[in-house]
Amino acid sequence: MDFTRHFAKRTKNMKPSAIREVLKLTQKSDIISFAGGLPAPGLFPVDAIKQAADTVLSTKGAAALQYSTTEGYAPLRNYVASRMQGVSADNVQITSGSQQGLDLVAKVLFDPGDYVAVGAPTYMGALRAFDAYEVRYLSVDCDEQGMIPESLETALKQGVKLIYVIPNFDNPTGVTMSLARREALVSLARQYQVPVYEDDPYGELRFEGESSPSLHALAPELVIYGGTFSKIMVPGFRLGWLIAQEALLVPIVRAKQAADLHTTIFNQMIAYEISKDGFMEEQIKKVRHYYHQQRDLMLHALESYFPEGVHWTRPSGGMFLWVTLPAHVNASEMVYDAVEQQVAYVPGEPFFTDGQGLNTFRLSYSVATPEQIDVGMKRLGDVIARHVRAVAAD
Ligand code: PMP
Repeated sequence: MDFTRHFAKRTKNMKPSAIREVLKLTQKSDIISFAGGLPAPGLFPVDAIKQAADTVLSTKGAAALQYSTTEGYAPLRNYVASRMQGVSADNVQITSGSQQGLDLVAKVLFDPGDYVAVGAPTYMGALRAFDAYEVRYLSVDCDEQGMIPESLETALKQGVKLIYVIPNFDNPTGVTMSLARREALVSLARQYQVPVYEDDPYGELRFEGESSPSLHALAPELVIYGGTFSKIMVPGFRLGWLIAQEALLVPIVRAKQAADLHTTIFNQMIAYEISKDGFMEEQIKKVRHYYHQQRDLMLHALESYFPEGVHWTRPSGGMFLWVTLPAHVNASEMVYDAVEQQVAYVPGEPFFTDGQGLNTFRLSYSVATPEQIDVGMKRLGDVIARHVRAVAAD
């Protein structure tokens, strides 16, 4: 049977992830990769998880292994709500990773052809989740303070179903939206009556400066908030959450029932068992401290090894930073040369929906050792210098 003849039309929109394509190139063990965005495995609280799993199995073993409710484990929903301002457990939907939140919201809101306003650039995983619902994108210009209101308004005037944004330590750019921009975004969303998806996997990973209120805190009536345990506990649990008005959660619960009935209850119980007595505050401190050091190492290497005319963001949290090369250097082509020199990054172009960003790329400092950062960034600096010179000589 040739199944390809039977695929639904929407599968044409399901593109492979550009990150996975680069990761395939980096399978050779001696390549230093700044491409993937994996959380650092040394931070995983393995012992605490082991103990909590034991407690859960000894005290609620059967319930932990039984089917459970679609909305999520009530104590965990309460815990999540207690960490957010003005949120009750009824507004919390536990999801299988925050990635599932993107899919469920898309399933509930989008008709084919709808417009979604996204940052230029934005998180590729969101684009891939939305693509399956046959939407179109309106690209919103961004600078070092996040989405530019005038550009967002141009998009909103065309009729938009959802604004998708990562206000804290954005993936891919590392940029954090200023308070003024948050207020401007919320005010435009109110004016045009467009819901906002605030994707916030990195919000807890702040290592300097003051945090701004979430978009959800500024406008709970129109913001859908996505959170996750992936970056502060472990990604392998696949535990995330959506916070939204109860009216929106009604179809979300039905969509989730159809997708997976519920998120693994055993993991939810373990996560709650670990979180309930203040352990998470300590864990988050450790995680912040670690990524802070990693970021400093990478900034130092950038300053030491990257040639003039190259610019980068200076994230105050999260795992990524964003590099802009001189306009005529093509980072999607240069990556092959970089891999040849045993170093890898993710080219920027696939993070855009309109073909921009050919001279940009993303670096992750999450898992490399200090030595790898030093050696890898030197290699990359040399590759860039050659490409800058080659272009200048053309
Ligand atoms: N949103 C953003 C912006 C991300 O970077 C990620 C992880 N790469 C996710 C959502 C999904 O994370 P998870 O499903 O592990 O919660």
